[in-house]
Amino acid sequence: MPRTTVSIRACVAIIAAGGLWLAMTQQPPQQPLTVEKLADDLHIIVGSGGNVAVLTTDDGVVLVDDKFNRNVPEILEKVKSITAQPIRSVVNTHHHGDHTGGNETLIRSAGIVAHDNVYTNMMNNKQPGPPHVTFSDKASVRIGGKEIRAHYFGRGHTNGDSVILFPNHRVVHMGDLFVSGVPFIDYANGGSAMAWTDTIQKALQLDFERVIPGHGPILTRKDLIQWNESFKKMRQQVSDLKRQGKSKDEVGGLLKLEEFGWKPSPLWGRSVPGLYDEVR
Ligand SMILES: [Zn+2]
Repeated sequence: MPRTTVSIRACVAIIAAGGLWLAMTQQPPQQPLTVEKLADDLHIIVGSGGNVAVLTTDDGVVLVDDKFNRNVPEILEKVKSITAQPIRSVVNTHHHGDHTGGNETLIRSAGIVAHDNVYTNMMNNKQPGPPHVTFSDKASVRIGGKEIRAHYFGRGHTNGDSVILFPNHRVVHMGDLFVSGVPFIDYANGGSAMAWTDTIQKALQLDFERVIPGHGPILTRKDLIQWNESFKKMRQQVSDLKRQGKSKDEVGGLLKLEEFGWKPSPLWGRSVPGLYDEVR
Protein backbone atom coordinates (compact mmCIF):
# COMPACT_ATOMS: atom_id res chain seq x y z
CA MET A 1 0.00 0.00 0.00
CA PRO A 2 1.51 3.37 -0.96
CA ARG A 3 -0.11 4.86 2.14
CA THR A 4 1.73 2.43 4.39
CA THR A 5 4.98 3.02 2.55
CA VAL A 6 4.71 6.76 3.13
CA SER A 7 4.16 6.42 6.86
CA ILE A 8 6.87 3.80 7.18
CA ARG A 9 9.31 6.12 5.42
CA ALA A 10 8.26 8.87 7.77
CA CYS A 11 8.97 6.57 10.68
CA VAL A 12 12.42 5.78 9.25
CA ALA A 13 13.23 9.49 9.07
CA ILE A 14 12.24 9.90 12.70
CA ILE A 15 14.14 6.90 13.97
CA ALA A 16 17.20 7.58 11.82
CA ALA A 17 17.44 11.06 13.29
CA GLY A 18 17.42 9.60 16.79
CA GLY A 19 13.81 10.59 17.33
CA LEU A 20 14.48 14.28 17.01
CA TRP A 21 11.38 16.30 16.38
CA LEU A 22 13.18 18.17 13.60
CA ALA A 23 13.04 14.98 11.56
CA MET A 24 9.30 15.53 11.29
CA THR A 25 9.89 18.27 8.75
CA GLN A 26 11.48 15.76 6.36
CA GLN A 27 8.18 14.20 5.40
CA PRO A 28 7.13 13.00 1.96
CA PRO A 29 4.31 14.89 0.22
CA GLN A 30 1.02 14.88 2.08
CA GLN A 31 -1.82 12.66 0.88
CA PRO A 32 -5.41 13.85 1.15
CA LEU A 33 -7.16 12.31 4.16
CA THR A 34 -10.35 10.29 3.82
CA VAL A 35 -13.04 9.29 6.31
CA GLU A 36 -14.40 5.76 6.73
CA LYS A 37 -17.49 5.03 8.80
CA LEU A 38 -17.60 2.10 11.23
CA ALA A 39 -20.78 3.25 12.99
CA ASP A 40 -22.85 6.44 13.25
CA ASP A 41 -20.60 7.63 16.09
CA LEU A 42 -17.32 5.93 15.12
CA HIS A 43 -15.19 6.83 12.09
CA ILE A 44 -11.56 6.61 11.09
CA ILE A 45 -9.48 9.20 9.27
CA VAL A 46 -7.10 7.44 6.90
CA GLY A 47 -4.01 8.60 4.99
CA SER A 48 -0.70 10.35 5.84
CA GLY A 49 0.35 8.98 9.22
CA GLY A 50 -1.43 6.54 11.50
CA ASN A 51 -5.15 5.81 11.42
CA VAL A 52 -7.16 8.23 13.58
CA ALA A 53 -10.30 6.90 15.26
CA VAL A 54 -13.05 9.47 15.89
CA LEU A 55 -15.67 8.70 18.55
CA THR A 56 -18.43 11.31 18.63
CA THR A 57 -20.66 12.04 21.62
CA ASP A 58 -23.14 14.80 22.52
CA ASP A 59 -20.49 16.21 24.81
CA GLY A 60 -17.44 16.23 22.55
CA VAL A 61 -15.17 14.03 20.49
CA VAL A 62 -12.48 11.53 21.50
CA LEU A 63 -9.67 10.85 19.02
CA VAL A 64 -7.34 7.90 19.09
CA ASP A 65 -4.03 9.14 17.61
CA ASP A 66 -3.57 12.37 15.69
CA LYS A 67 -1.09 11.78 12.82
CA PHE A 68 1.52 14.52 12.17
CA ASN A 69 1.05 18.08 13.36
CA ARG A 70 0.79 19.27 9.74
CA ASN A 71 -2.32 17.06 9.37
CA VAL A 72 -4.22 18.83 12.16
CA PRO A 73 -6.08 21.39 9.98
CA GLU A 74 -7.34 18.56 7.77
CA ILE A 75 -8.17 16.36 10.78
CA LEU A 76 -10.24 19.23 12.21
CA GLU A 77 -11.98 19.67 8.86
CA LYS A 78 -12.82 15.95 8.71
CA VAL A 79 -14.11 15.92 12.31
CA LYS A 80 -16.26 18.97 11.44
CA SER A 81 -17.76 17.01 8.53
CA ILE A 82 -18.91 14.38 11.09
CA THR A 83 -19.97 16.52 14.08
CA ALA A 84 -20.12 20.11 15.35
CA GLN A 85 -18.71 18.96 18.71
CA PRO A 86 -15.15 19.93 19.71
CA ILE A 87 -12.31 17.46 20.33
CA ARG A 88 -12.23 16.92 24.08
CA SER A 89 -9.68 14.14 24.41
CA VAL A 90 -6.93 12.38 22.46
CA VAL A 91 -5.68 8.91 23.36
CA ASN A 92 -2.29 7.99 21.84
CA THR A 93 -1.60 4.33 21.01
CA HIS A 94 2.20 4.93 21.26
CA HIS A 95 4.74 7.73 21.01
CA HIS A 96 5.78 7.65 17.33
CA GLY A 97 5.41 11.00 15.60
CA ASP A 98 2.99 9.74 12.95
CA HIS A 99 0.54 8.94 15.80
CA THR A 100 1.23 11.80 18.27
CA GLY A 101 2.36 14.67 16.03
CA GLY A 102 -0.98 16.46 16.27
CA ASN A 103 -0.66 16.62 20.06
CA GLU A 104 1.46 19.73 19.62
CA THR A 105 -1.62 21.68 18.49
CA LEU A 106 -4.48 19.71 20.03
CA ILE A 107 -2.98 19.80 23.54
CA ARG A 108 -4.05 23.43 23.81
CA SER A 109 -7.71 22.43 23.91
CA ALA A 110 -7.92 18.66 24.53
CA GLY A 111 -6.75 16.31 27.27
CA ILE A 112 -4.09 13.86 26.06
CA VAL A 113 -4.04 10.36 27.56
CA ALA A 114 -1.43 7.62 27.01
CA HIS A 115 0.67 4.94 28.69
CA ASP A 116 3.43 6.03 31.10
CA ASN A 117 6.13 4.98 28.61
CA VAL A 118 4.61 7.19 25.90
CA TYR A 119 5.33 10.14 28.16
CA THR A 120 8.88 8.93 28.85
CA ASN A 121 9.63 8.18 25.20
CA MET A 122 8.24 11.54 24.04
CA MET A 123 10.35 13.36 26.62
CA ASN A 124 13.47 11.35 25.67
CA ASN A 125 12.86 11.97 21.96
CA LYS A 126 12.11 15.67 22.54
CA GLN A 127 8.65 15.43 20.97
CA PRO A 128 6.16 18.20 21.73
CA GLY A 129 2.77 17.53 23.34
CA PRO A 130 3.47 14.67 25.77
CA PRO A 131 0.31 13.35 27.48
CA HIS A 132 -1.33 15.17 30.41
CA VAL A 133 -2.58 11.94 31.93
CA THR A 134 -0.73 8.61 31.89
CA PHE A 135 -1.53 5.12 33.15
CA SER A 136 0.34 1.87 33.77
CA ASP A 137 -2.20 -0.89 33.02
CA LYS A 138 -5.50 0.54 31.87
CA ALA A 139 -7.53 3.70 31.69
CA SER A 140 -11.07 4.60 30.71
CA VAL A 141 -12.03 7.82 28.98
CA ARG A 142 -15.69 8.66 29.58
CA ILE A 143 -17.31 11.51 27.71
CA GLY A 144 -20.96 12.14 26.86
CA GLY A 145 -22.10 8.84 28.36
CA LYS A 146 -19.66 6.83 26.21
CA GLU A 147 -16.49 5.05 27.20
CA ILE A 148 -13.33 3.89 25.53
CA ARG A 149 -10.76 1.75 27.32
CA ALA A 150 -7.00 1.82 26.88
CA HIS A 151 -5.20 -1.38 27.87
CA TYR A 152 -1.47 -1.96 28.24
CA PHE A 153 -0.63 -5.62 27.69
CA GLY A 154 3.17 -5.43 27.43
CA ARG A 155 5.97 -4.69 25.01
CA GLY A 156 5.79 -5.13 21.25
CA HIS A 157 6.29 -2.42 18.62
CA THR A 158 7.64 -0.20 21.48
CA ASN A 159 7.47 -0.42 25.28
CA GLY A 160 4.37 1.78 25.42
CA ASP A 161 1.75 0.42 23.01
CA SER A 162 -1.86 0.53 24.14
CA VAL A 163 -4.76 -1.42 22.71
CA ILE A 164 -7.82 0.85 22.62
CA LEU A 165 -11.21 -0.84 22.97
CA PHE A 166 -14.51 0.69 21.89
CA PRO A 167 -16.68 -1.71 23.92
CA ASN A 168 -20.04 -0.68 22.47
CA HIS A 169 -18.79 -1.21 18.93
CA ARG A 170 -16.65 -4.28 19.60
CA VAL A 171 -13.81 -2.51 17.81
CA VAL A 172 -10.15 -2.16 18.84
CA HIS A 173 -7.51 0.29 17.65
CA MET A 174 -4.24 -1.65 17.78
CA GLY A 175 -1.87 1.17 16.81
CA ASP A 176 1.31 -0.24 15.25
CA LEU A 177 1.04 -3.44 17.30
CA PHE A 178 -0.79 -4.58 14.20
CA VAL A 179 -0.17 -3.53 10.61
CA SER A 180 -0.45 -5.71 7.52
CA GLY A 181 2.94 -7.12 6.59
CA VAL A 182 6.28 -7.09 8.38
CA PRO A 183 6.40 -5.78 11.94
CA PHE A 184 8.69 -2.91 12.95
CA ILE A 185 10.32 -3.65 16.29
CA ASP A 186 11.54 -0.33 17.69
CA TYR A 187 14.33 -1.66 19.90
CA ALA A 188 15.57 1.88 20.64
CA ASN A 189 12.24 2.53 22.41
CA GLY A 190 11.78 -0.76 24.23
CA GLY A 191 10.23 -2.86 21.45
CA SER A 192 10.38 -6.65 21.75
CA ALA A 193 9.70 -9.43 19.25
CA MET A 194 9.65 -12.03 22.03
CA ALA A 195 7.01 -10.17 24.05
CA TRP A 196 4.98 -8.97 21.07
CA THR A 197 2.99 -12.16 20.39
CA ASP A 198 2.04 -12.51 24.08
CA THR A 199 0.89 -8.91 24.03
CA ILE A 200 -1.36 -9.70 21.06
CA GLN A 201 -2.56 -12.87 22.80
CA LYS A 202 -3.68 -10.80 25.79
CA ALA A 203 -5.38 -8.28 23.50
CA LEU A 204 -7.33 -11.16 21.94
CA GLN A 205 -9.01 -11.71 25.32
CA LEU A 206 -10.93 -8.48 24.75
CA ASP A 207 -14.36 -8.67 23.17
CA PHE A 208 -14.05 -7.27 19.62
CA GLU A 209 -14.61 -8.25 16.04
CA ARG A 210 -13.26 -5.40 13.92
CA VAL A 211 -9.71 -4.06 14.15
CA ILE A 212 -8.32 -0.65 13.28
CA PRO A 213 -4.63 -1.31 12.50
CA GLY A 214 -1.99 1.39 12.94
CA HIS A 215 -2.04 1.98 9.17
CA GLY A 216 -4.16 0.74 6.29
CA PRO A 217 -7.72 -0.55 5.94
CA ILE A 218 -9.96 -2.02 8.66
CA LEU A 219 -9.19 -5.66 9.49
CA THR A 220 -10.77 -8.37 11.63
CA ARG A 221 -10.04 -10.44 14.73
CA LYS A 222 -9.31 -13.36 12.39
CA ASP A 223 -6.70 -11.29 10.52
CA LEU A 224 -5.05 -10.42 13.84
CA ILE A 225 -4.94 -14.06 14.96
CA GLN A 226 -3.43 -15.11 11.63
CA TRP A 227 -0.84 -12.31 11.69
CA ASN A 228 0.21 -13.25 15.22
CA GLU A 229 0.75 -16.85 14.08
CA SER A 230 2.84 -15.62 11.14
CA PHE A 231 4.89 -13.54 13.58
CA LYS A 232 5.62 -16.62 15.69
CA LYS A 233 6.66 -18.62 12.61
CA MET A 234 8.91 -15.79 11.40
CA ARG A 235 10.53 -15.63 14.83
CA GLN A 236 11.07 -19.38 14.74
CA GLN A 237 12.78 -19.03 11.34
CA VAL A 238 15.20 -16.50 12.85
CA SER A 239 15.83 -18.80 15.79
CA ASP A 240 16.48 -21.82 13.51
CA LEU A 241 18.88 -19.84 11.30
CA LYS A 242 20.73 -18.54 14.34
CA ARG A 243 21.12 -22.09 15.66
CA GLN A 244 22.42 -23.17 12.24
CA GLY A 245 25.20 -20.64 12.76
CA LYS A 246 23.97 -18.01 10.29
CA SER A 247 25.22 -14.52 11.07
CA LYS A 248 23.16 -11.42 11.82
CA ASP A 249 23.89 -10.12 8.31
CA GLU A 250 22.88 -13.35 6.60
CA VAL A 251 19.59 -13.94 8.39
CA GLY A 252 17.64 -11.05 6.81
CA GLY A 253 18.12 -12.47 3.32
CA LEU A 254 17.33 -16.06 4.30
CA LEU A 255 13.93 -15.57 5.92
CA LYS A 256 10.98 -16.83 3.89
CA LEU A 257 8.70 -13.85 4.42
CA GLU A 258 6.70 -14.60 1.27
CA GLU A 259 5.20 -17.52 3.22
CA PHE A 260 3.23 -14.92 5.16
CA GLY A 261 2.61 -12.60 2.22
CA TRP A 262 5.12 -10.15 3.73
CA LYS A 263 7.65 -8.02 1.89
CA PRO A 264 10.77 -6.58 3.55
CA SER A 265 10.73 -2.83 4.22
CA PRO A 266 13.41 -0.37 5.39
CA LEU A 267 12.03 -0.54 8.92
CA TRP A 268 12.07 -4.32 8.77
CA GLY A 269 15.76 -4.10 7.86
CA ARG A 270 16.32 -2.05 11.00
CA SER A 271 14.42 -4.59 13.11
CA VAL A 272 16.39 -7.69 12.06
CA PRO A 273 19.66 -7.16 14.03
CA GLY A 274 17.77 -6.63 17.31
CA LEU A 275 15.49 -9.55 16.51
CA TYR A 276 18.53 -11.79 15.92
CA ASP A 277 19.99 -10.75 19.28
CA GLU A 278 16.68 -11.27 21.06
CA VAL A 279 15.71 -14.77 19.88
CA ARG A 280 17.23 -17.85 21.45
ZN1 LIG B 1 4.81 3.29 15.29
